[in-house]
Amino acid sequence: MPRDGFDIGGDLRALNTRFADDTQGALDFALSGALGRIAMVSSFGAESVVLLHMLAQRHPDAPVLFVDTMMLFPETMAYQRDVAQALNLQDVRVIRPTREALFAHDPDSVLHLTEPDACCTLRKTQALEAALDGFDGWITGRKRSQGGERAALDLFEADGARIKVNPLAGWDAARLSDYIDTHHLPRHPLVARGYPSIGCAPCTGPVAPGEDPRAGRWRGREKTECGIHVRNGRVIRGNAAQPAASEQQAAQ
Ligand code: SF4
Repeated sequence: MPRDGFDIGGDLRALNTRFADDTQGALDFALSGALGRIAMVSSFGAESVVLLHMLAQRHPDAPVLFVDTMMLFPETMAYQRDVAQALNLQDVRVIRPTREALFAHDPDSVLHLTEPDACCTLRKTQALEAALDGFDGWITGRKRSQGGERAALDLFEADGARIKVNPLAGWDAARLSDYIDTHHLPRHPLVARGYPSIGCAPCTGPVAPGEDPRAGRWRGREKTECGIHVRNGRVIRGNAAQPAASEQQAAQ
């Protein structure tokens, strides 16, 4: 939970107004201690280097959680190591599903073919939830310009008992690209091969010019999100949010 006396409703509204045009300010405030213990969660994907670079300038020792689903592209694994070293990030924590969980639920690594929501829960959501134990909130790289459920994204939002901070909420692709060029940052190698959004290898493909940047994620399925994000108690996975796991259990 955030510090005592924090008013989730009123204080979050005030923060969204105060930092509406101040990305670095929002990031600095998130890591000031005022919200408790905060970690950044990064996929080291197509645009992740922007927020990681901002973090590295003033908070190189802040914890960065990287969820390795064990289904990622080898390019992502190499890029993660290269970026962490180049930016001198000092506390990158690689999070993985447990061997026991994988053996019990996806021993042949084919769950994504038939039950992608269950696969994301196993490989991402549960692993991240365990890693976030002890943190009061987390920082994400989501943007309104990504559309879908993200179109109404706030800078600061409630995430159950935690606070979620989205410093790049108002950034678009052009601004991100300019930042990468200006600071001479390395790009994920798959971007040049037509992947503007990069997740697990079996569930990510290239997109055609003019297509939605996330069109290559779970192409041909209703699914548009992995389920690590929750809004109003609902797991965000597609156009229609699903009840959170705790709600599903309560409803059974
Ligand atoms: Fe499984 Fe695909 Fe989700 Fe990765 S993106 S966890 S492979 S369903």
